[in-house]
Amino acid sequence: MTNATTKIELPSKEKYILIGWELISRISAKFDLFALSKVTSFSKTACRSKMQEFSSNFHVTERHSSRVINKYLKNKEIERVTDEKGREVRSLYRYVGDDPYVGGSLRIDMFLLETEFIFKGSKKKGIAAHTRYLTLIEVLVLSFMLQHCRNPKTRVFRGSVRSIAKKLHLSTSSVQAAIFWLMNASLISRPEEDKAKNGSGWTTYHANEGLLRKAKKKSESVEQVRTEPEKTVVKYKTAADDAADAKTDRTRFYEKRRKKAKKRADQAKARLDADIEYKEAAREELKLRNPIARAELDGNIKELRRLQELSRQAKRKMRARMETLAISPEDLTPQYFCVKCADTGFHPDGTYCKCYIPGAES
Ligand SMILES: [Zn+2]
Repeated sequence: MTNATTKIELPSKEKYILIGWELISRISAKFDLFALSKVTSFSKTACRSKMQEFSSNFHVTERHSSRVINKYLKNKEIERVTDEKGREVRSLYRYVGDDPYVGGSLRIDMFLLETEFIFKGSKKKGIAAHTRYLTLIEVLVLSFMLQHCRNPKTRVFRGSVRSIAKKLHLSTSSVQAAIFWLMNASLISRPEEDKAKNGSGWTTYHANEGLLRKAKKKSESVEQVRTEPEKTVVKYKTAADDAADAKTDRTRFYEKRRKKAKKRADQAKARLDADIEYKEAAREELKLRNPIARAELDGNIKELRRLQELSRQAKRKMRARMETLAISPEDLTPQYFCVKCADTGFHPDGTYCKCYIPGAES
């Protein structure tokens, strides 16, 4: 909006965010929790974050990001920061709710969200080896363990599935699944002799510091590459006299963006598709849709109630399986860079979208 804005000094890139335990106990939607915590983490100064950044940080759509941020603006938990002249500064937020850090906080390193990890897969679960981002639930569980592993006094994490679930306000099946996949990716390990016999048994987990260091380093080098395209913009514009080339570049640019946006959602979808129980419940839910519409049209209330109950059961089953796989609904939505054109380059009326950056990602 304005360049003569505030004197607020901001970190150019946040390396971590702090999630207050108070927020964890209060907010169950995982994206809400992460996005709001990004704002609270920098409220001593202010949090500068475009919707695009919220969505790429936490892998959700811009539309979803703005819906969530607007919700908290309306609740008056966060506010827009104004400059000396009282004008609102774009993309600058401050948290104004009750202190979220009274009960302490959980540190989330951003590289955990930005790195694709290699999973060995599981023959027993019928899931092949694959590479993917961690789900938000997995990031929560891992960060909780890391907090203890990085404490020089403890160096390891000792806890039970139930104790983790209680502290993070997750279901035990979500925690169990998250631990399974974190071990599958070798991010954590537990010595065989420490393995607990049941859910309330205490187990010792070790963090794979070597792998974590490597991921952190890789994420930092990617960050450097990401800031480069701005330089190429000028170079391209001066040489951009070939319209045909430009068109090809443009198409390729959007293809790449769409592919990237869909990648994480596709990964989560593929994991759900591979789950037999989930697939069965989803098929059942789909099968019920037409009969429900028919019963509604016919005014057959009794039949409608019966079918709706079956549909609810199927949906419950689907949710339970998602929990077991540590997949939240947010993990299933593609994270488009530009919500205006859904990374197609065109608005619904056929005009070009302004989000095109010549030379970037080519
Ligand atoms: Zn666009």
